[in-house]
Parts: sequence; structure tokens; C-alpha cells
Amino acid sequence: MFLEHDPVELLAVFGGLGLPKFRVRQVRRWVFARKTTSFDEMTDLSKETRQLLTEQFGSVLQGKELTRYRSGDSTEKLLIEWQDGERIECVLLRDDRNHRTACISTQVGCAMGCVFCASGKDGFVRNLSRGEILEQLLRLNSLLPQHERLTHVVVMGIGEPLLNLDALLSALDEVTDSDGLDLSVRRVTVSTVGIPSGIRNLADSVVRGGKSYKLAVSLHAPNNQLRTQIIPQNRFSGIENILNATDDYFKQTGRRVTFEYTLIDRLNDQPEHARQLIHLLRNRTAIVNVIPLNPVPDLEFRTPPAQTVQHFVEQLQAGGLQVKVRLRKGDQINAACGQLRRSGEWGVDSGELIVESGE
Ligand code: SAH
Ligand code: SF4
Repeated sequence: MFLEHDPVELLAVFGGLGLPKFRVRQVRRWVFARKTTSFDEMTDLSKETRQLLTEQFGSVLQGKELTRYRSGDSTEKLLIEWQDGERIECVLLRDDRNHRTACISTQVGCAMGCVFCASGKDGFVRNLSRGEILEQLLRLNSLLPQHERLTHVVVMGIGEPLLNLDALLSALDEVTDSDGLDLSVRRVTVSTVGIPSGIRNLADSVVRGGKSYKLAVSLHAPNNQLRTQIIPQNRFSGIENILNATDDYFKQTGRRVTFEYTLIDRLNDQPEHARQLIHLLRNRTAIVNVIPLNPVPDLEFRTPPAQTVQHFVEQLQAGGLQVKVRLRKGDQINAACGQLRRSGEWGVDSGELIVESGE
């Protein structure tokens, strides 16, 4: 379980094995920079050391890649099975700006039950560990040619990241560490359904010296009645509490918060909704990210017509909000990974199956 250990713990484990401290850095560079997953391939270690590490940790990775899907030439999805048989998915998305974005999951299933989302259909099973979160990143990074690496990470896969914050922050430390994946903090986005206490915990971690990641909050509705209809969890949080928490996040970190607004046909896409949204956000330093729904089979919700999306966006802009809309092909990372489905079900419309393990 190599990836479960942070660098400080590794020092202790390596010390216990009688290995000098500098070996930790050497091995971590093999794993994170050189994409090596077997201790046996770390050729500047002695045979004895490699054997010792293999006996201690087994392999670097714990899970098994069950299937790999490719959609066009820009998106690849992996279905990974952990040792207890639970499965999650993660996505690599390339776009025309040469961004190579990993979208990762933080939980098996999700307890929030958003009505339009496939991830929560089966409810919540368990949190992913630090190592399981990191493993997704290493596997996605390995899909790239040796000389390329990930440029962005979005925590927008299965699960609610702020309900598994310790494991997530521990994993993200490696994403931004110079001996880890070495990404800039600004290129890491955490998307949350909007849990006020979780947002405050994230802000507190920054105040205590942690990194200030980009925060995206899934708003999806401009009033509590509609939001609770779309996101049942909203009856505990409420829009006001969420906005107070994001205001504090901005004050404490200096980072503008993005509000995600998935547009659903005739549910939250009307002019009155745009008006209410303007009212909520106009005095805030915020960005609104409008995402036309990616319809999930078996669910009744539809994507609004392009014209409705355009009107909605124009209305927000006219109201003084800063708006981004994701319409272009290859730019739909939210939809690409927000729609992760239960295994066995999601192959049909997810592109071409390119690898399937025989086991
Ligand atoms: N649980 C977190 C992060 C995972 S979902 C959250 O809800 O923010 C990431 C984003 O994808 C969220 O904004 C979510 O609302 C969106 N999403 C989920 N299913 C979607 C779908 N079918 N179409 C479009 N966006 C979707
Ligand atoms: Fe969970 Fe996010 Fe899906 Fe809602 S949108 S069910 S919070 S993963």
C-alpha cells in the first residue's frame, strides 16, 4: 500500500527497513515523475532494496483496471476495481488548448442523490482512501506518452469530495508537490454539492498553511424550493448558508468561487431562474459555469434546446455576471465525468471499448 503513505510516513517505513532517507525521494520520483509502478523497474536501486520494497508494499498500485473506454481522440475513461471488489471510474480529457485534465472520484457512490446524476443512483458505499484517489491520477497520467504529464486535475468524478476531505487533501498534496505530480495549485479544482461545514473546513485548511485550490460549487438552482427538488441534500444546507461559506472562502483564500449551473430542460432554465440567479450572485466576485445537462439514460431529464441555453447565458451576462458555458466538443469535462455510471451500464453510450481485462 505504498500510495497510502505520505512522505513523512514513508521516511519511517523506509527507516524501519534499514533504508537511508534519500531513498524515499528517489522512489517517489520513480513513481510520480517516471510513471513506474513496479519496484523491480527502479534500476538505480540495488536488487536487495527492490526486493525489500516489493516485500513491504507489493506493487505501487492496489486496484485493477477492468475496462478502458475511448471517446473520439480526446477522452479516455477507466473503470477500476479495488481489492474489496468496489469499482469507480476516472477520466482523462485532452482539449485543443493542450490541457490534459484528470477527473477523479472520491467515493464509491454518492449519498447526495441529485436527481439528474448517475453517480448517486445506487447511493453511497464508502469513501476512497488517499492511495485510491492517487492511483487514479497515476493511471491517467500513464495513459499519456512518457514525456507528457497531466496539466489539470478536477475533482468532479463520483462522490462528494468535501465528505472525504482528509483523504482528498492528502492525495492532492502529492499533486502539487515538486516530487509528486508537480502541478500548480491553480490547476486543481474541487467541485462540491455545497456543504457549508465542508467549505469552511477547506478554508480552514488553507489558513493552517494548506493549499488554496479552486472551489466550484454546484448550485443548479436559484431558490431553495427548486434546489431541494434537484439536490435533496439542500434541505440541510440551504442556499444562504452555502453562499455565506463561499464568501468566507473567498475572503480567506482570495480565490474566486465558480458556481456550476447544470441547465435542465424546463426545470431550471427559465428567464425567472436567470433573474433570481443574478439577484443572488451579482454582488459577489463569482464566475457562473453553465453546463447543459448530459442526459442520463433511465432518467427523465433532458438538455434544453441550444437557443434556451443561449438566452439563459445572455440574460446572466446582461445582468452583470461573469459566465462561462461549456458547449464545445472536447470541453465538456463536467459532463464527461459528472455522468459516471454504475459499472456494466455505462458502456453503451460511452464510446469505443478499447481494452477489457480477461479476468
Ligand atoms: N459531488 C460533486 C462533484 C462531482 S459531480 C458535485 O456535485 O459538485 C461534478 C459536476 O458534474 C457537478 O456540478 C454535477 O452537478 C455535474 N453533473 C453530474 N451529472 C451531470 C449530468 N448528467 N450532466 C451535467 N452535469 C452533471
Ligand atoms: Fe453526488 Fe455530485 Fe452526483 Fe450530486 S452531482 S449525486 S453530489 S456526485
